[in-house]
Amino acid sequence: QAKARGRNGFQFYAPSMTGEGVERLRLETMLRRSIEKDEIFLNYQPQVEVDSGRLIGVEALVRWDNPELGLVAPVRFIPLAEDTGFINQLGKWVLYESCRQMIRWQDAGLYVPKIAVNLSVKQFERGSIVCMVAEILKETGLEPHRLQLEVTESVIMNTGDALVFINDLHAIGVGLAIDDFGTGYSSLAYLKQLPVQTLKIDRSFIKDISTDSNDEAIAIAIIQLGKSLNLSVIAEGVETEDQAAFLLRHGCNQAQGYLYSRPELASVILERWR
Ligand code: C2E
Ligand code: MG
Ligand code: MG
Ligand code: MG
Repeated sequence: QAKARGRNGFQFYAPSMTGEGVERLRLETMLRRSIEKDEIFLNYQPQVEVDSGRLIGVEALVRWDNPELGLVAPVRFIPLAEDTGFINQLGKWVLYESCRQMIRWQDAGLYVPKIAVNLSVKQFERGSIVCMVAEILKETGLEPHRLQLEVTESVIMNTGDALVFINDLHAIGVGLAIDDFGTGYSSLAYLKQLPVQTLKIDRSFIKDISTDSNDEAIAIAIIQLGKSLNLSVIAEGVETEDQAAFLLRHGCNQAQGYLYSRPELASVILERWR
């Protein structure tokens, strides 16, 4: 379209405004209005104890349902939200809604022990994360130990003040998990210093656990590392009974994945686990 106009001698567009650029801008504009338009909601994926099937927690996963675009995957809009700064507003909304939902479930007769919420690196760069979390906990009435924040290794290793923020979060009683563990490279010495409670074995290692000896070795190593450092270890993306049996055999009794449940609406969680 811009090309056609260009042929007529009108070149108002910047050279970077390719089709992709236009599409991105459109997405950006729509994303910015998504909260006020009520298009953002959360799904919750159960985390279970493998041997008993008991519910030990849920992970909150953000969803964007736009009338024009349909359901947009987080891998598409989280990076965009990070680039535009919208992630701060979105992250706050997610945190608030997650804590509030825990109380709603409780009032309806379902006690979910813990909720895990993903944090973006940009939220750390912002600096005020600790105050925000404390304020949300106070306002919703959720006990701090029932909130677990998930960060990736790269967040920890690449954020200058991460250690300070993480220690502050620990000081107010909030839990911390390292997401997608094994895919980044955290220094083990650094890990030991952090007030982290949980390692989440990345889905990519679980996928071919029974057929790929490298993945098997990595998964076992992470489980052992957790034991040595006295951390709990949870496996992500568990889809088969074989994978669950493997985990149990090697001493990992916490899992999350389609085998147990897909991410669901709060009402579905209530119905199924109450
Ligand atoms: P994550 O935190 O590692 O979340 C786990 C992802 O694996 C989720 O994808 C979940 O739906 C998917 N999953 C769970 N079990 C299985 C399984 O058995 N098989 C397969 N194939 N997939 C499984 P989702 O919801 O698309 O989220 C993708 C990523 O987007 C998340 O990865 C997280 O990094 C990010 N994300 C999601 N919600 C938020 C949020 O509220 N804030 C931030 N900053 N990031 C978020
Ligand atoms: Mg996560
Ligand atoms: Mg993960
Ligand atoms: Mg991930």
